[in-house]
Amino acid sequence: MNWLTSYVRPKLQSLVGTKEIPDNLWEKCPSCGAMVYHRELEQNFRICPQCNHHMRLSPEKRLEMLFDEGAYTLIELPEVKEDPLNFSDLKDYSDRLKEARKKTKQEDAILVASGKMGGMNVVAGILNFDFMGGSMGTAVGESIIAAVELALLQEASLLLIPASGGARMQEGILSLMQMARTTMAVRRLKEKGLPYFVLLTDPTMGGVSASFAMLGDIAIAEPGALIGFAGARVIEQTIRTSLPEGFQKAEYLMEHGMVDMVVDRRKIRSTLINLIDLLRNPHPASDPIPFVRKNES
Ligand SMILES: [Zn+2]
Repeated sequence: MNWLTSYVRPKLQSLVGTKEIPDNLWEKCPSCGAMVYHRELEQNFRICPQCNHHMRLSPEKRLEMLFDEGAYTLIELPEVKEDPLNFSDLKDYSDRLKEARKKTKQEDAILVASGKMGGMNVVAGILNFDFMGGSMGTAVGESIIAAVELALLQEASLLLIPASGGARMQEGILSLMQMARTTMAVRRLKEKGLPYFVLLTDPTMGGVSASFAMLGDIAIAEPGALIGFAGARVIEQTIRTSLPEGFQKAEYLMEHGMVDMVVDRRKIRSTLINLIDLLRNPHPASDPIPFVRKNES
């Protein structure tokens, strides 16, 4: 910021009285570089109309898209001890939390909601990448356990939607322990025969992919989503070889059996409803048509 922008420009603006046109009216597609008008992008569920690239979506928008009539109830999440290690790197962890809360208006990186999809009970837990990279610390771990408990109570299906860089390193071993805790939690659903779905969105990495995110009965991924454990550059440097084209992308993972289906964002709700119906109501929706021989009628 210099004298011209910090002093002259505001002065001129107050004199002229015109508002500056917000520069976020157009958004550049990170994949094809096309400039897309933001309203068109919102109407298209943040999918690029030029190249079909699925841009990141806010948790609220995502939940609205998934539940019947866009209606859901957010669950109050368990309180946890904040900054248990009194951790500080370039900044204090407590300051990072404050900033993330201000930016996202969320307590931590997860929201848990309950509602209906196709008239069937569903509990959904969704990570917010804008909150410290969607990282999983004690709060996220506890919230996933709360989501599992709610699903058990309501005999609902559970849907978890990760968007995460992995474990929250500022919580050290406590964040790593959430991998085991969430793994054990989702097992309880399986014991009760309740369906557990995972919708892998961009990105699903590290300790999140190494725990609950890879344990869904059915793993659905969004097109082009980055899914993996360590980043491609780290792997390349470690094994000293170049990686194949499309490595760690949803489509590559499906080809190699790590993901069951890659589904366009606009079809995820209907796909989920079909799957929940198939798993929860294993009887045909209508009476079987009686077989009648032609010459009998
Ligand atoms: Zn594009």
